[in-house]
Amino acid sequence: MDTARDLVIEERKDSISTKGKHKKQLKCDTDSVAGCVSQRACVYCGARVVLNPITDAIHLVHGPIGCASYTWDIRGSLSSGSDLYRNSFSTDLKEEDVIFGGEKKLAKAIDELVANYPSKLVFVYSTCIVGVIGDDLEAVCKAASQRHNIEVIPVQSSGFIGNKSAGYRAACDALLRLIEPQEQKIKKTNSINYLGDFNLAAEAWIIQNYLKEMGIDINVTFTGDSSYDALKKAPGASLNIIQCAGSMTYLAGKMKEIYNIPYLNISFLGIEDTSESLRKVAAFFNNKEMMARTEALIERQTQKVLPVIEAYREKFAGKKAAVYVGGGFKAISLIKQFREIGIEVVMIGTQTGQKDEYETIHELVDEGTVVLDDANPAELEKFMVEKGAHLLVGGVKERPLAYKLGVAFIDHNHDRKHPLGGYVGAVNFAKEVYSTLCSPVWKYVDSMGGV
Ligand code: SF4
Repeated sequence: MDTARDLVIEERKDSISTKGKHKKQLKCDTDSVAGCVSQRACVYCGARVVLNPITDAIHLVHGPIGCASYTWDIRGSLSSGSDLYRNSFSTDLKEEDVIFGGEKKLAKAIDELVANYPSKLVFVYSTCIVGVIGDDLEAVCKAASQRHNIEVIPVQSSGFIGNKSAGYRAACDALLRLIEPQEQKIKKTNSINYLGDFNLAAEAWIIQNYLKEMGIDINVTFTGDSSYDALKKAPGASLNIIQCAGSMTYLAGKMKEIYNIPYLNISFLGIEDTSESLRKVAAFFNNKEMMARTEALIERQTQKVLPVIEAYREKFAGKKAAVYVGGGFKAISLIKQFREIGIEVVMIGTQTGQKDEYETIHELVDEGTVVLDDANPAELEKFMVEKGAHLLVGGVKERPLAYKLGVAFIDHNHDRKHPLGGYVGAVNFAKEVYSTLCSPVWKYVDSMGGV
């Protein structure tokens, strides 16, 4: 062991494993280490990912201006209605506020925003510094709610309270306050809530069309293209389906407890998982005609996209991929999706993967594949080089790392502008892999060593 990097990796060896003869239990869901040693997003970012797609809400960040930079312009969530969510409002806390407290500034900011942007709903996000100075968000929001007769909901997403998953829970708690009904609503037949799709590049609309063809209506999507009024009707669905399990399993569990709505985990990434998920949803309703419509849809869509996928597959012979994404469900689907296009996954990690998801990942990957939780840049670099990856799939933070190593990159996060969900997404994925992996630019780059 001779470098600082090796020392860091040695310290975190419980969170890294290589698939081999001896199965190792991976340590996961630990608190993020303070400072920029992790690739994970912070607690506040986790909460913002989940709530920001609510289109007609005022999203107010209570913190220094830097936190508000995590905003719509790096996000691909689309709206069919209001555009209010595309503004990123901030209280812009300064030194004086840190010393004397920021509650008055926050109350004033809410008053100003409500006067200028009519809305029935305000989310106030707590950030690291608010957790340190101890502003009482609950009290300020309650008073503002009474003053304006609208819902002003605090999102308890201060830094230092855990990891990105804690932010997901804070967002789900805020949603539960919003959807709590005064009385139990009557269930609608064939109506579902779609959880964990943020309508990136219209993905929720693509899935909505598949379900419609099967004879199922989406009651409300959490939270892609959703609105205050739509979310209020959430208890009226007869089933919750969860795409992003990391962010929404907690909410689905609570909705089962409170409203008795069952839930299913699904994934609309890749041909295999999309088809399986549609079948799973149809099976829940146990309706022969719906099942027949579903099979017809799967057959038609698969026949349409398979030849395109096959053509790309030939071009990817011998290529290897590294994956570092947010949730475990996405990582699992990506292993299968890479298999569909003939690429081997040699390194795979997540920010918020859970024990059972890592077990599935371990079963799916080939011998020798490195599996790691909450990685830092040094670890990603070491294992990509060691395993000879030609491509990295990640988010905005991983892009520079891939390019510095001279390998191809695919953005699979919230800032992308093209859909990767459903059958059309499977084709887009293969196309994107081709355009980055087979780009002529790599001829001029010293792979794994820089330009
Ligand atoms: S909440 Fe904390 S970690 Fe997150 S962006 Fe703001 S300062 Fe950074």
